[in-house]
Amino acid sequence: MRSFVYGGLPSRVVFGAGAVRQLPAEVERLGAKRVLMISTPGRAAMVSKLGLQAAGTFDKAVMHTPIAVVEEAREMARTVRADCCVAVGGGSTIGFGKAIALTSGLPVLAVPTTYSGSEMTTIWGMSEKNTKKTGRDPKVLPRTVIYDPELTLDLPPAVSAASGMNAIAHCVEALYSHDGNPIVSLMAEEGIRALSKSLPSIIRDPKNLESRSEALYGAWLAGATISTTSVALHHKLCHVLGGLGLPHAETHAIVLPHAVRYNYDAAREAMARAERALGAQPAFQAIYELEAKLGIPMKLSGIGMKEADLERAARIATEAPYPNPRKVEYAPVLELLRNAYEGRRPS
Ligand code: NAD
Repeated sequence: MRSFVYGGLPSRVVFGAGAVRQLPAEVERLGAKRVLMISTPGRAAMVSKLGLQAAGTFDKAVMHTPIAVVEEAREMARTVRADCCVAVGGGSTIGFGKAIALTSGLPVLAVPTTYSGSEMTTIWGMSEKNTKKTGRDPKVLPRTVIYDPELTLDLPPAVSAASGMNAIAHCVEALYSHDGNPIVSLMAEEGIRALSKSLPSIIRDPKNLESRSEALYGAWLAGATISTTSVALHHKLCHVLGGLGLPHAETHAIVLPHAVRYNYDAAREAMARAERALGAQPAFQAIYELEAKLGIPMKLSGIGMKEADLERAARIATEAPYPNPRKVEYAPVLELLRNAYEGRRPS
């Protein structure tokens, strides 16, 4: 018999090709008059073409939201007397909007240009001296999210592939989350379907607006799945590996088939749903083969992981594990990491 708790988060989503043209109207809808625009240096040109009169522009967002750079952005928000932050970019940029909101309470309007899903969550993260602090706070949830696939046409294929697999990882873990529910499972299954179908065609033709739209739709669903359910072993491992300095989306992509193999027999219903969405089984091989087709690096050793760190990572991940369908134990987790390190096809 069913038994679950469902909670929805209050955010407004505006989706569609050309949707970013509604940005001024959406800012006005929030009652804001003095916008601080946030981007990375790479997206600054895109931001300048959005036609929004901003009170200030902070274009120095970087990966891992280092606290020193965050303080600079917060200072700018105060100096220009911003009453809203508009973050245009991937999870790194949106992380800056969230960091400003955390201490000021300013509303954030997010315009995501990757598939990370950060825009849908109350999760913030900041780094200082090689350690990353994270937390959940309703203040940081973007009030409005504008998804415009036209803004993703220049996202390089390799970044698209890894970022898309990061989104699939959100969906997979939501399917077997200890606090999952039927609505989130529907979104997760549809998210995996949309992303696994569109990513290969994005690799073939990165400017295909239809595929870009489908992938962004999947990314929205993926972000929504982790906004109200907990993540499990896969995300725990990726957080630990991120702390060792490995790149976020690629780490997610490489670890995912191995984490799915780890949990496969302990989460049969979730795996059956993932397989239905992927159109192939077993899920861990279907994911591995999808990634091979996308040209994703398949080995942790290829993205900077040191063999000497495998045992340390397994120890940290098993010392304080997140709730997970299969018991989290040192020896099999170390084997999982070793397989991911060597890029073995899970069997
Ligand atoms: P990212 O934001 O660092 O972007 C990846 C690269 O793509 C960057 O070089 C960026 O400049 C470039 N880029 C972005 N959009 C582009 C576009 N449209 N065209 C061309 N290039 C573009 O990477 P990400 O994977 O989106 O985000 C990773 C960060 O987000 C990590 O710090 C991670 O911890 C965080 N994150 C947070 C949450 C959350 O809920 N808080 C969820 C997922 C990820």
